[in-house]
Amino acid sequence: MDLTHNADHESFRQAAREFAARVVAPGLRERDADAKADASIYKKMGEEGFLGCCIPQHYGGLGLDYHTLAIASEEFEYIDSSARVIISVHNGLHSLALLQWGTEAQKQQYLAPIARGEKLSTFCLTEPAAGSDVAGIQSFAEKKGDRYVLSGEKIWISLSTVADQYLVMAYTDRAKQAARDHSGISAFIVERAWKGVAPYEFHGKLGVRAGITGGIAFQDVEIPEENMLGLPDEGFKVAMSALDNGRYTVAAGAIGLIRASLDASLKYCHERQAFKREIGKHQLVQQMIASMAQSRDIGDLLVRKCGWLKNTGQRCTREVALAKWTNTIAAQTAADNAIEIHGAYGFSNEFPVERFWRNSRGAVIYEGTKEVQQIIQAEYALGYRHDGPLRCELPPHSL
Ligand SMILES: Cc1cc2nc3c(=O)[nH]c(=O)nc-3n(C[C@H](O)[C@H](O)[C@H](O)COP(=O)(O)OP(=O)(O)OC[C@H]3O[C@@H](n4cnc5c(N)ncnc54)[C@H](O)[C@@H]3O)c2cc1C
Repeated sequence: MDLTHNADHESFRQAAREFAARVVAPGLRERDADAKADASIYKKMGEEGFLGCCIPQHYGGLGLDYHTLAIASEEFEYIDSSARVIISVHNGLHSLALLQWGTEAQKQQYLAPIARGEKLSTFCLTEPAAGSDVAGIQSFAEKKGDRYVLSGEKIWISLSTVADQYLVMAYTDRAKQAARDHSGISAFIVERAWKGVAPYEFHGKLGVRAGITGGIAFQDVEIPEENMLGLPDEGFKVAMSALDNGRYTVAAGAIGLIRASLDASLKYCHERQAFKREIGKHQLVQQMIASMAQSRDIGDLLVRKCGWLKNTGQRCTREVALAKWTNTIAAQTAADNAIEIHGAYGFSNEFPVERFWRNSRGAVIYEGTKEVQQIIQAEYALGYRHDGPLRCELPPHSL
């Protein structure tokens, strides 16, 4: 197993770090306080290639490998989770699903513009009455001639009002829906501009306040049959394989949040005095610092292993779920410890650590809650869960 990052990865990291500091950081505290997203960030991410970093060049991307996807996630989340969420839904959940399952025509029409950053995309699985329980979704797309007619509602959708295209999961088989059999779900590429598509935005979120989250109502939306991604009834497999890529970006982003919590804490440890010593000299504070350094390094190894498995074309559902579970819990603990180290100052937005904690909370829930991730690990260990080959596999990559 080769976990090393080469010179190309390092120069990509520098570019992502510089971008996040130049484009995402300015005005962030105000955007977070006012719950306002800055649309110029998506545009610049697109212009500088980040929205298609690991999509092949002939489909408009930079043609880099899967380690670079993790690096962008980590560096963007180091500044703010809302920037990493863009990479998670656009690159991880949507673009890579099109690369993996799309027809050549779908790749030309829908993958190339999003890889070039001309358009934004997101992933629509969750519904008002069904999140973890995917078989419980209510959305239905009825076949009528050469089209499907979709009705339903998706909620908690990142970039709901600004994504130009959605990857939407809906049942296409009434009997299977009634039987809660997820093999009756199909996946569709749906354009925001189509008649009957009504996106909206939520307010009052705990975290990711500088990013957009909302919902989309679909009312008798006519979808050409060629916009189905994968075969009829293959949507659950499309969605789960997309989550293998999305969870990878969340796990990698969590390393950035741990690093940010650690760096803020190190600075404060040297600045703040208590009992006539820097607080970093107190061993119980050192324990919290040590725990952050530990989770940063463990998390990095878990993500690099997933990157290597993806680059070499190996399925890594178990490893990605393990990294997502481990790293998001570790990031929440690191952010919590960072607040503790800052004492009362950590409780105000004068310091960024309270934002880190609020942002860390969502990542434990989305793309599979910590309970769901534990069930996955237990089922593999107990032999209840096995990964068969998929009809379409994620293509391998090398740098
Ligand atoms: C900021 C944010 C962004 C998001 N972005 C997107 C997006 O872009 N696209 C999208 O489709 N979704 C998105 N989501 C939704 C997210 O994926 C879901 O919230 C998540 O899957 C959990 O579903 P739920 O909220 O319905 O919780 P539920 O499934 O209702 O779960 C409630 C509780 O019950 C527990 N539980 C459920 N089933 C079991 C079980 N079998 N065993 C043990 N415990 C169980 C859960 O772990 C949880 O603690 C986003 C959510 C957030 C917060």
